[in-house]
Amino acid sequence: MEYAYAARARWKTIIYAVAAFLFLIVLSAIIIWNSTKLLQAVEDRTLNYLRDVAGESVQLVNDRIDGVLESLELISDGVERLEPEARRDFLLRKAEICNFTDLAVADETGKAQSLYNGTWEMGGLPIFAHVLKGENSVGIWGEHIVYAVPLSEEVPSARVLFGMKSIDKMRELVTNDCFNGQGSTGVLGQDGNYVVTPEPKPFFSMINETEYQETENWAVKLQENLLKGQAGSLVLHTDSGEDILLDYRPLSVDGWFLATLIPKDILSSEVDRYISHTFAITVLLVTLFLTLLIAIIGMQNRYRGRIEKISFYDPVTGGASNVYLQFQAQELIRKAPQARYVVASLNLRNFSLINEFEGRQQGDRLLRDVCAALSAEADGEGELVARGEADTFYLFLQGAEQPQIVERLERMVGKLANLSDTIGPLRANTGIYCMQPGEADLADAEACADAARKSVEKSYHNTCTFYSESIKNRQRDMATMLYQLEGALERRELQMYLQPKVRAENGTVAGAEALVRWEHPEKGFISPATFIPLCEENGLICQVDLLVFEQVCRCLSKWREAGVEPVPISVNVSRQHFRDPEFLTEYRQLLETWKVPPEWIELEITESIMFSSSEFQYVRDFIQTLHKIGFTCSLDDFGSGYSSLSLLKDLPIDCLKLDRQFIIGRFEEQSTRTVIEMIMNLARKLGIMTVAEGVELEEQVSFLREAGCDLIQGFYFSRPLPVEEFERYAFGRSLGAGGEAI
Ligand code: C2E
Ligand code: CA
Ligand code: CA
Repeated sequence: MEYAYAARARWKTIIYAVAAFLFLIVLSAIIIWNSTKLLQAVEDRTLNYLRDVAGESVQLVNDRIDGVLESLELISDGVERLEPEARRDFLLRKAEICNFTDLAVADETGKAQSLYNGTWEMGGLPIFAHVLKGENSVGIWGEHIVYAVPLSEEVPSARVLFGMKSIDKMRELVTNDCFNGQGSTGVLGQDGNYVVTPEPKPFFSMINETEYQETENWAVKLQENLLKGQAGSLVLHTDSGEDILLDYRPLSVDGWFLATLIPKDILSSEVDRYISHTFAITVLLVTLFLTLLIAIIGMQNRYRGRIEKISFYDPVTGGASNVYLQFQAQELIRKAPQARYVVASLNLRNFSLINEFEGRQQGDRLLRDVCAALSAEADGEGELVARGEADTFYLFLQGAEQPQIVERLERMVGKLANLSDTIGPLRANTGIYCMQPGEADLADAEACADAARKSVEKSYHNTCTFYSESIKNRQRDMATMLYQLEGALERRELQMYLQPKVRAENGTVAGAEALVRWEHPEKGFISPATFIPLCEENGLICQVDLLVFEQVCRCLSKWREAGVEPVPISVNVSRQHFRDPEFLTEYRQLLETWKVPPEWIELEITESIMFSSSEFQYVRDFIQTLHKIGFTCSLDDFGSGYSSLSLLKDLPIDCLKLDRQFIIGRFEEQSTRTVIEMIMNLARKLGIMTVAEGVELEEQVSFLREAGCDLIQGFYFSRPLPVEEFERYAFGRSLGAGGEAI
């Protein structure tokens, strides 16, 4: 059985999963977008940082160069004033003080006399020409930075003072530790080659050897800027995939640039790590959340599946339950609101007897067979069959034309006939409710179909009844009546009548049956046959029974006090009251209150009290309980259903009341008379007293007398009478206020 509801639930799960997946994607996109923005911001900050640091370094280097040139100028002063012989000592001292590796004085041809390295030829150096023009100058010479200042023009043998410092000193100066050893700073010449190579030199090869392609845009731009003496910065991509930021800015020395290189992710590497951590944590959390979600949905589905199985599946028939029918029918109506449907309520006749005679298992098997037979006749796609309570089945069928529906249902019920032969062919009563287009209240529709089915008196044949306006009116009348009945009970408008039971042999009164009467202020007399079933449906019957019982006690107590020989009165015990044995406590209290011996009261229980064999046991125990209290007990309406003679031998009853239908309806038939005779015989043999109800004719009295019936209750002798009239009938006089209000 595929449940549409389950399919819908599956769809829901898929939609949830897709939504969760989309959510994950959107979340990832947001994280990625956010990270990109963050990285961009960090890159900008890195560049600014680089510029700041490089700017400061340039300042520092320029200051240092200026300082060196200044000290060289001071030395030059001394040199000019000294005689050439005294110059050497002076220079030696100054070289040591000012940390020059060497000092040299050159003549106008460029021939220089150094302190430690003999004679140099400096005429070819570009700075030499510069200095001769009277400007300080700095240049590179071998492994040295050479600083030069002009000397007085008056002495041709000493025109330029050179001061040497090792390149390493300059390298130390330019190297800064702002970048945790990850940066590299050097001095770049105008041609793009390092004047002072950085130490360490991680990027040297990149610029100078492998990566430096002069045609590349950045290289062209770099060259242009270097030639113009302009500062700039750019991003370099290395083979290893690492990006490097380069900042270059001119130094005070002509054609020299301070070049600072740092890895682009020097600041962002940390951020990168946090971003990847955040990303990983988010993915982990979302995955966990999704897994949890899927687990919860899965669990929910499993539970739902189990609950569906319990509520949608009928364990007895193996088919659908009524809950399922209602659910699924609503789905069908939702899909095709204009389609026409009917709901049929089908009840098997005398099914309880099959349970009783064949056992419960056989009964269940029959229900299974019935369900299968009905389902086989239904259209699997758009029609439904389910078992309701006990032996009632509901059918949800397509169609609107009454004759066709009846024909179809008769055919369906016809198929059931052969499923059991325990009590003759299996028969059923069916009620049909035609749903209006778009109407979707299945519980209501089933209630209407039930009402239509129950509206027909029990009949031997299959019945098929449509819910009609009159049934609806009757239902409404019943509801009104119930409401009025409640009021009547409160106002004690109900009365107890007594119908004599007369000895068949001599016509003397041997007892009475208490029967309730309702004199409606407007409608007049309302038969208990009408309102008692209504009370039974609504639980009011317990109140009615109790009040009748109390009235009986009161009456018997009055008779005792009046000194007449009381006749026993029988009281009806309804099926519902019987289900709640607590009522016996109340009955006992009433007996005590009115000082009535229980033997004076007979309790009538009906044959229909037993639905199953398990209840049979319960009834037997119940009757024994009644006996223990002291009541006598009679089996009412015997033969109204499928009489089970076996009941007589197994139930410890004192009296048997032959159902009035035997007498009123079928007395004419010889077979009925034979059955009556047999029952009387059997009862006599079992020591059970017999009462015949509904006796109206002389010939019936004589037949029953002949058949050995003990007592006769019927209009032939007397109708049910108000108490006062009964007293006159039974005792020849009234014993006080009659027609006791209950
Ligand atoms: P029942 O217990 O089988 O009561 C006998 C019914 O047969 C009475 O109907 C009585 O008036 C009717 N009757 C007696 N003799 C004749 C006759 O010769 N011809 C015809 N045609 N009918 C006869 P009533 O009083 O209308 O009661 C109908 C049913 O209502 C009772 O059937 C009983 O099942 C129920 N009932 C009546 N009073 C009470 C009550 O106080 N408590 C309960 N639980 N049920 C009650
Ligand atoms: Ca009765
Ligand atoms: Ca009866």
